[in-house]
Amino acid sequence: MNHETKISPLPQEGTFRFACHKSLPCFTKCCADLELVLTPYDVVRLKARLGLSSDTFLEKYTAASVEQSYGMPVIKLKMNTDESHRCPFVTANGCSVYEDRPGACRIYPLGRAALKVHEGLRAGESYFLVAESHCMGWNEGKKWTLRQWIMDQGLCEYNYMNDLFQDIIAGCHIRTINTLSDQKLKMFYMACYSVDDFRRFVFETTFLDRFYISHELQIRLKGDDIELLKFAFRWLRFALFGDRTVTLCNR
Ligand code: SF4
Ligand code: SF4
Repeated sequence: MNHETKISPLPQEGTFRFACHKSLPCFTKCCADLELVLTPYDVVRLKARLGLSSDTFLEKYTAASVEQSYGMPVIKLKMNTDESHRCPFVTANGCSVYEDRPGACRIYPLGRAALKVHEGLRAGESYFLVAESHCMGWNEGKKWTLRQWIMDQGLCEYNYMNDLFQDIIAGCHIRTINTLSDQKLKMFYMACYSVDDFRRFVFETTFLDRFYISHELQIRLKGDDIELLKFAFRWLRFALFGDRTVTLCNR
């Protein structure tokens, strides 16, 4: 799809006008030919939505590559291989995974930059407008404040989890880790994207002999993918940077 993207600051008064609905001629046309990068939280939400194991979801719906600019695995949603190159989740009625759609789909027509992320806490964030030339939602009259859009699109939990992830990516930059060994790349991929494998790693290896995890937390990690992903981020910061984010067992 040939189109132009115009990025501009949010107006001074902090409001914008936008609406996306079925009666627009562009409806669902934006759900094709996308380079849609999935975050670990996107993967957890989508695999739960589809009732799939993380391995099956990753194999069926995603393509992994190592981003040369920062040496980390990147997961993208595979578009259909026919001429349409449509997203596998789009239907004539819209997004079939709407309640669990990726953060990138939620935030449009805004973009967000989180500044100085550390342990999920950010020193600041900025939002801007992203207008795709084919998108007719801009001609609609509905007025939004930034806060209303964030709440309406369920962005708070996505921002929180994605900031925890960005903390690790930023850590690699700050500590100038540009290339991970194959072993660390596999570890990063498992911890961030393959939550079922990470659960087996925690509960079916010597992991619990090496790291202390309280009984209560163990119960949560066994049954809750999102808790497990938060723990995986903590463990990765220990494994990659040596941060004291997990407790070692006394030997
Ligand atoms: S192009 Fe814009 S208005 Fe049209 S369906 Fe996509 S987001 Fe909605
Ligand atoms: S996940 Fe849903 S909103 Fe996002 S591109 Fe696919 S169909 Fe569109």
